[in-house]
Amino acid sequence: MTDDLDQLRQLARTFLEKESVPNHERWAAQKQVDREFWTKAGGLGLLCVSVPEEYGGGGGTFAHEAVLLEEQARAGDSAWGNSVHSGIVAHYILAYGTEEQKHRWLPKLASGEYVGAIAMSEPGGGSDLQNIKTRAIRRGDEYVIDGSKTFITNGAQAELVIVVAKTDPAQGATGISLLVVEAPLTSGFRRGRVLDKIGLKGQDTAELFFDDVRVPADNLLGASEGQGFIQLMQQLPQERLIIAVASVAGIEAAVELTVDYVKDRTAFGRELIKFQNTRFKLAECATEARVTRAFVDECIQAHLKGELDVPTAAMAKWWSTERLCVVVDECVQLFGGYGYMTEYPIARAWADARVQKIYGGTNEIMKEIIARSL
Ligand SMILES: Cc1cc2nc3c(=O)[nH]c(=O)nc-3n(C[C@H](O)[C@H](O)[C@H](O)COP(=O)(O)OP(=O)(O)OC[C@H]3O[C@@H](n4cnc5c(N)ncnc54)[C@H](O)[C@@H]3O)c2cc1C
Repeated sequence: MTDDLDQLRQLARTFLEKESVPNHERWAAQKQVDREFWTKAGGLGLLCVSVPEEYGGGGGTFAHEAVLLEEQARAGDSAWGNSVHSGIVAHYILAYGTEEQKHRWLPKLASGEYVGAIAMSEPGGGSDLQNIKTRAIRRGDEYVIDGSKTFITNGAQAELVIVVAKTDPAQGATGISLLVVEAPLTSGFRRGRVLDKIGLKGQDTAELFFDDVRVPADNLLGASEGQGFIQLMQQLPQERLIIAVASVAGIEAAVELTVDYVKDRTAFGRELIKFQNTRFKLAECATEARVTRAFVDECIQAHLKGELDVPTAAMAKWWSTERLCVVVDECVQLFGGYGYMTEYPIARAWADARVQKIYGGTNEIMKEIIARSL
């Protein structure tokens, strides 16, 4: 931690307590945050904190993104899709955009004028990205996109969508490219339902449809077609580290909530914390938190030095998400019946945790990646 990171933590904490916490139930009911929440966050400098200032960002590093993720977990906010917007979408543009593209899109993402999404997964499959069906075929100075995507975070609100598509459908990985679709400037782009989920109730997760969608040829990310798969492989470690950071912060928050609860609640005339089972379970959970934190912090340090490799990011993702699910489940048990009531943060944390083992690459795919490196 540095003074700069401490200040960001304080700013984020105050902002989330005031603008997020009172809205959780309403956002869950409407299945998305209020659109103006993004512009408020942008106005305070809380979007794109790790994007250089020359493109409108905060000029920070991944450590700044990590602080925001931790504060979101602490506030129990699972609705705001900032990690996708700032931690993922903006970084594809930063890494592969031309100067003109970076100046065109990043300031809008940093201010909240645009919400960002990335559309990889399709109804036919998410793990097997080499076999996606969405096509983007070059016709003159345009690409024509046809296909559909599902489970897209920020999908209903996004003005900027990075679409993973086949520019050469005859090829596998080498036929994949990334194209930017600016929703306000594009016809044929349609949004489907905002999906009902068992957790992350306030998070916008939507279907997207592309019917003869035309985008300028210079919306391609990268110097030439066919770079998409490599670009995904290069960026996915950061996405997986984001999930790991959110998961360890979730473990810590769950332990804190539960320790407070068992000190207060009584059964058989004593506080729950006095029962040996409660004490042992919480001792285990606190140890899980500490061990996971040590590994994830090591990964953050490696990533800040540009040294986080793909298998290690996959280890951090599967490990931290598995431990999150184990710990939160134990915590729910210690809350008894209240642990099953959605008005209790621990119940929401339990439902929110489950998807962490699925998205960003399933934990089975993580183990495939790790096993290949052995
Ligand atoms: C809330 C939410 C938000 C999401 N946000 C986004 C987003 O913003 N953008 C986006 O593009 N996607 C997003 N996704 C999609 C997510 O990344 C996919 O759901 C995930 O990659 C798995 O793909 P799938 O659902 O098609 O499952 P499948 O690929 O059909 O997998 C089904 C099962 O088979 C297993 N499996 C598949 N292949 C193998 C293998 N080779 N070896 C062993 N087991 C295997 C999987 O591990 C899984 O258990 C989101 C999903 C959710 C639920």
